[in-house]
Amino acid sequence: MEITQATAAELLRAMEQNELSCVEVTQAFLDAIQTRDVAVQAFLHVDPERALQQAEAVDQKRRNGQSLGRLGGLPVAVKDVLCTQGQPTTCASRMLQNFVPPYDAHVIERLKAEDAVLLGKTNMDEFAMGSSTENSAFQKTRNPWNLEHAPGGSSGGSAAAVAAGMAPIAVGSDTGGSIRQPASFCGVVGMKPTYGRVSRYGLVAYASSLDQIGPFANDVHGAALLMEVLAGYDSRDSTCADRPVPRYTERLDQPLDGLRIGIVEEHFTEGLDAEVESAVQDALKIYESLGARIEKVRLPHSRYAVATYYLIAPSEASSNLARYDGVHYGFRAQQFSNMVDMYSTTRGEGFGAEVKRRIMLGTYALSAGYYDAYYLKALKVLRLIRRDFDEAFAKVDVIAGPVSPTPAFRIGELVDDPLAMYLSDIYTISANLAGIPGISIPAGLSREGLPIGLQLMAPPFEEERLLRAARMFERETDWHRRRPKLMLTPQAGE
Ligand code: GLN
Repeated sequence: MEITQATAAELLRAMEQNELSCVEVTQAFLDAIQTRDVAVQAFLHVDPERALQQAEAVDQKRRNGQSLGRLGGLPVAVKDVLCTQGQPTTCASRMLQNFVPPYDAHVIERLKAEDAVLLGKTNMDEFAMGSSTENSAFQKTRNPWNLEHAPGGSSGGSAAAVAAGMAPIAVGSDTGGSIRQPASFCGVVGMKPTYGRVSRYGLVAYASSLDQIGPFANDVHGAALLMEVLAGYDSRDSTCADRPVPRYTERLDQPLDGLRIGIVEEHFTEGLDAEVESAVQDALKIYESLGARIEKVRLPHSRYAVATYYLIAPSEASSNLARYDGVHYGFRAQQFSNMVDMYSTTRGEGFGAEVKRRIMLGTYALSAGYYDAYYLKALKVLRLIRRDFDEAFAKVDVIAGPVSPTPAFRIGELVDDPLAMYLSDIYTISANLAGIPGISIPAGLSREGLPIGLQLMAPPFEEERLLRAARMFERETDWHRRRPKLMLTPQAGE
């Protein structure tokens, strides 16, 4: 078995049957990072020593016959927006360049409790604001399928790490598409769970009413497995739902009989790339051949989703990011004349251009006199968008459509045009506004050889339905088995 091309299930099986030790598996991924990440630049921090220590501890437990957690030695990469005790957590911002959290995020505790091995922290758009990972203060991550192209964002590092076989599974966060869009661009599985399904304790906040943490993997089973570990109640996040977590992997292979799939008329209008559209249509034909019924549904207010999101998210961000004042965390400017100057110089030097743009937009939308016209209006439209989904899900079980209007764009292509960049979130944002789960699964390759994802969305807390529907498609196709050339040609030293 080529370790870095294997699925989570294959690796777990090999370790359980003592064909591979956890140290061997971990070392293979560390080697892959060393050789491939020179080109891909997915990781901000890698801690080989600590990873190998964790791996050794897992092997020790196995040798002693102790029972292991559900991730029994699987290496995992984590977006650098999640607090890791004693390890840097920068959010790809100069503001947190030297920040080392004194505690672990809830999901990091969960990963450790289930015996995952933490490989390192992945690159992202600064504070998760962006769709290309180009807003990182430190480096540009490249799409493993074509290094000239962006991996998507904001969780671009996690998606690229899985796509390039530098981690079998990874964790990201999705506020407006930041798991699903990079998953689509990089040809891996990525899922945003229901709002409240996963605790955000220790997730550095961007837009708190929308942020969710979710899994990346190279197949649906890997995503389902990681979901089982991430999900569940935690009293430290007051929005976290106190409801049991199904064993998503258990019934994954049971097809959904009489599945009703909704397609949204508004999704197939101008701006949708022809190759993306035909990949979606091909996917629908596969579902039909499996007995699913395709029905048209309408989400009439979805045309306002981008505008609504880009008022609500920056408004919340402007409040959440007020804490970076040069006193509480991280960076402080060297030169200033008084306290107010210290705040403004610190923020001026510490934040990148996109973050500043969001803070200004959000502060404006919340200011007296504009609050009613912008923020409050956006909240009202959000209500209408939610109602559209309620009505659609009265008729269908899942909604299928594109993830992003195009395959991965080129690095630099949209960076000077924020509006065009925002539009790349057009199909993903509604799920965040509605609080519902959504998944991206590999569903094609463009003529240029870039991955195309299919998005499925389901009603709140129907992650199991979503994963099973995704698995039905995966069983019939081999898009998820394709690997970028970069992985197939051994690099120097491999
Ligand atoms: N691209 C969107 C934004 O820039 C979504 C980001 C996210 O989901 N974190 O805000």
